[in-house]
Amino acid sequence: MTDGDEKQPQKGDTVLYCAHDVASGLHWWRVAMGFRRPDGSVGEAKWLAACDACFVASAGNALAVRVAGDGTWDGSPVTFRAQD
Ligand SMILES: [Zn+2]
Repeated sequence: MTDGDEKQPQKGDTVLYCAHDVASGLHWWRVAMGFRRPDGSVGEAKWLAACDACFVASAGNALAVRVAGDGTWDGSPVTFRAQD
């Protein structure tokens, strides 16, 4: 695994995501975002992923996306959409 490729999540990266069906496609933001889970534990996310509906609702603002949870990226291939 190499550092420096920041164009897509790397295996092991923490990703925040919305809770919706992602069949419409995921939108990704590169973030450096500390967060606190409902159980009080904290984490540091490198990416935020949202479905198309959340992307539109947030007007493309990562901070406006309602985050439902976090996970560790497993290294699966990623299809990218707009990131503005
Ligand atoms: Zn969503």
